[in-house]
Amino acid sequence: MAKLRDVVDKIEIRAAKRATKCRRNGSHKIARGDLRVIVTPSGPAARDYGYCADCGAAILEAAQQRIAAHLGKLQSASTLTPIQEVQAEPAEEEEELPEAGSPRTKPEPHTQ
Ligand SMILES: [Zn+2]
Repeated sequence: MAKLRDVVDKIEIRAAKRATKCRRNGSHKIARGDLRVIVTPSGPAARDYGYCADCGAAILEAAQQRIAAHLGKLQSASTLTPIQEVQAEPAEEEEELPEAGSPRTKPEPHTQ
């Protein structure tokens, strides 16, 4: 089976190598060593956009909500047609051996 596609490969968390600013708000300072959320925009311009932890968390939460909404659609659809319908395996029917009245077992002779 093919590897699962990573749809959030444009997002990374990295420590800032130098003091910098948040891409969303220049007044958000990012100190050297602080964790940043790096977003690589699609397109030929290979530029990484770094966001401070607060803005980064907001970005990730927004993405999480979108993903949750997508998942919700799939899951509500799957309640109509369950994908994983657990098929009750037929319990192995143990043939009940006849105890009384079996033609092969003689009833114990009554002692008188
Ligand atoms: Zn910020």
